[in-house]
Amino acid sequence: MTPYDGIVSQDQPALVDGFGRTVTYLRVSVTDRCDLRCVYCMAEHMTFLPKAQVLTLEELDRIASAFVGLGVRKLRITGGEPLVRKGVMGLFENLGRHLKSGALDELTLTTNGTQLATFARPLADLGVKRINVSLDTLKPELFRALTRGGDLGKVIGGIEAAQGAGLKVKINAVALKDGNAAELPELIRWAHGRGLEVTLIETMPMGEVDVDRTDEYLSLTELRRDFESFWTLTDLDVTTGGPARYVDVAETGGRLGFITPLSHNFCEACNRVRLTCTGTLHSCLGQEDASDLRAVIRAGASDDDLIAAIRLAVDAKPKGHDFQISRASAPAVARHMSTTGG
Ligand code: SAM
Ligand code: SF4
Repeated sequence: MTPYDGIVSQDQPALVDGFGRTVTYLRVSVTDRCDLRCVYCMAEHMTFLPKAQVLTLEELDRIASAFVGLGVRKLRITGGEPLVRKGVMGLFENLGRHLKSGALDELTLTTNGTQLATFARPLADLGVKRINVSLDTLKPELFRALTRGGDLGKVIGGIEAAQGAGLKVKINAVALKDGNAAELPELIRWAHGRGLEVTLIETMPMGEVDVDRTDEYLSLTELRRDFESFWTLTDLDVTTGGPARYVDVAETGGRLGFITPLSHNFCEACNRVRLTCTGTLHSCLGQEDASDLRAVIRAGASDDDLIAAIRLAVDAKPKGHDFQISRASAPAVARHMSTTGG
């Protein structure tokens, strides 16, 4: 694919929303498809989007590059599973030019790890330094059940390949009350023993997924209390502008993050927006607000038109979100995490 280079060289004022927050971080979902079917993320029989609705790699490059031109310093490629998108390495290669020019600090991805044995080395060669790998358990049978058919060995092999290629790996695990809560200390010990950070995530009510999520919701405040009965946790003063809070675990010598969108409000410092694989810009993960950038570019927009549409969308970024898990309610946000990108 040919890189789109129109916008980046322009000297643009920063992207600031209506509440004075500067947007410096863009997550880009490159596909809604995936080779796994995690129970909290997808329905067993998903209907995926027709190809024509999904942005081409050139369109993804154009929009992401426009954001870089507007001061975004960090790009995270996600999905669906980003590494199942055909030609995705071409996108990494093209976006890598912004690392080389110094316009971008970080190009990274969130992956389920199944394809890393193939892609870890090329990713490292293209300038990716750190990746997030989602892994909820070390028990092969439980992994198969939670992902509806996944092979744990592939993911472990992928993580080893990533470390072998010099990538810094962080493990993301969704905390499920009955699903994997009992397994989490073992997962954390294992990861810390290999120099991997772990971040635990509360389940979020996004999209219809067949299972009743209220039964699986586990408050991380509760989980932390439980960990403190056998570990010494020390709060760390680091923040990423996101919802994660970090602690050091004295006994394992590793770092543990807690992402608690349901129990805490972290919106005041939010510096990020999300682009779906269909070109919809969501300026807040937990709200239905949306701007259709695909329509803008497919209508033949100039770079200035695209920039104006992005500024308009960011200006309207909501103050905060309103996630709630209650038995009676439908998902707070109807779209799946796999469309928005986690
Ligand atoms: N397929 C890649 C992966 O699994 O890492 C990237 C996309 S996935 C949607 C991104 C993250 O969202 C994963 O860590 C996943 O565990 C998380 N996720 C998916 N559905 C979720 C939900 N309902 N609540 C909380 N996290 C969720
Ligand atoms: Fe696929 Fe990631 Fe969703 Fe699991 S969490 S189904 S790996 S997109």
